[in-house]
Amino acid sequence: MGSVLGRLVTDLGERSTYDAASQCSRCGYCEQACPTYVATGRESRSGRGRNQLVRRVLEGGPSGSPELREALSTCLLCGACTSACYARVPTADIVLEGRRMLGAAPRWVERLLSFVILRPGLLDRALKLAFLFKKAGLSRLASKTGFLSLLGLEWLAVADVHVDEAPSEFLVDKLRTMPSSERPAWFYLASCGPNYLFPRVGLATFKALSSLRGPGRLVASPCCGLVCYNYGDVGAARELSRRVIERWEAEAARVEGGGELPVVVDCSSCAAHMKSYPQLNLDDAGWRRRAELFAGRVRDVVEVYAECPLPPAGLPGTVTYHESCRCRHGQGIVDAPRSVLRAVAAERFVEMPDSDACCGGAGAFAFSHQELSDALLRRKVGNIASVQARWVAASATSCLIQLARGLKNYYPDAKVLHLSEIVAAAVSEREEEKGNTS
Ligand code: SF4
Ligand code: SF4
Repeated sequence: MGSVLGRLVTDLGERSTYDAASQCSRCGYCEQACPTYVATGRESRSGRGRNQLVRRVLEGGPSGSPELREALSTCLLCGACTSACYARVPTADIVLEGRRMLGAAPRWVERLLSFVILRPGLLDRALKLAFLFKKAGLSRLASKTGFLSLLGLEWLAVADVHVDEAPSEFLVDKLRTMPSSERPAWFYLASCGPNYLFPRVGLATFKALSSLRGPGRLVASPCCGLVCYNYGDVGAARELSRRVIERWEAEAARVEGGGELPVVVDCSSCAAHMKSYPQLNLDDAGWRRRAELFAGRVRDVVEVYAECPLPPAGLPGTVTYHESCRCRHGQGIVDAPRSVLRAVAAERFVEMPDSDACCGGAGAFAFSHQELSDALLRRKVGNIASVQARWVAASATSCLIQLARGLKNYYPDAKVLHLSEIVAAAVSEREEEKGNTS
């Protein structure tokens, strides 16, 4: 058995994993909300089915069957089942505990992944090399040699295949060259997605929030640990959570009232994970308190925009919104991004059907379960096309990668943008207008 959390923070309080799974009454309300159940019609691919499987393992039942592993590995961890469940059973966390108990990832992959992620300098160098391959047109060679996979970085190997652009400079390097405010109104914590793959997203966040809220300040921190958490190494995930908290504490101490400032994150998956740091630190009262303080300051950028007076954006054509699972189900954010889009796009904002359905991205899911992922992606793109959208707003790195791939293949009339890019465009237009009239 691999390392597990053992105790979970649920909406009904702190519970053992077994008690959390036992709260499932098997009512089945979650089934139609579960994308993998809807796609396959199989009980073992539903929230209810997966909860029962993990519960049986915890009761000492058989744990070696390929079917059990497949049932747990096909869970998208989207959390739609929990949103639909009256008892708020935390199925995604229970599935992750099940995967850890079974040792879903080979131990060496888990160790190597943690080794690289815990050393940001090594991760930076590995990615710079991979992007150099890409720029030199040797991307296929890099993927054939399994360069990133060899480092245990399959999730980045997936991104490398699907992201056309290879940034020449990482976001944090760019931000370090910009003046840093001594009296910031907010802190910014760069997730791996904006840092390594989409620096344009982080720059848009800085542009938009600097104008709307005042100057921001970078908290240079390592990976938030979500990758280690999802791929089995709880110890490394906990270690990373503590390093992130320490960096924030040090930065906050340098600024008057710094402990009260929001810590803005522009990848919804990472924001949701950082808000759950207390769960990773339940066993240590001191760290738990520090994790609670930190988690209380973390804000998904979409929440922050909703509090700002927003100018209109002149994006031509219809804008629709894809709900990233960890925004809606992981953080319960539903209205904020919609109010932002209504403010910037007015009547050009149109809801797509099933906006909360998972796009099938989910980290390396698109790689490990291509057929299922593609079925979910095609359904999502069909819904985007049904409202004839030109722009799709999203808020998580995984969705940006997956939707860019889906739109390119099935509906090239539309493009996906991070919500920050749309707000930054509106802010730039307002500044230009002001410049022209002054
Ligand atoms: S997870 Fe919740 S909604 Fe789903 S079957 Fe169990 S109790 Fe019912
Ligand atoms: S987390 Fe998502 S994929 Fe997994 S059981 Fe729940 S609804 Fe289904």
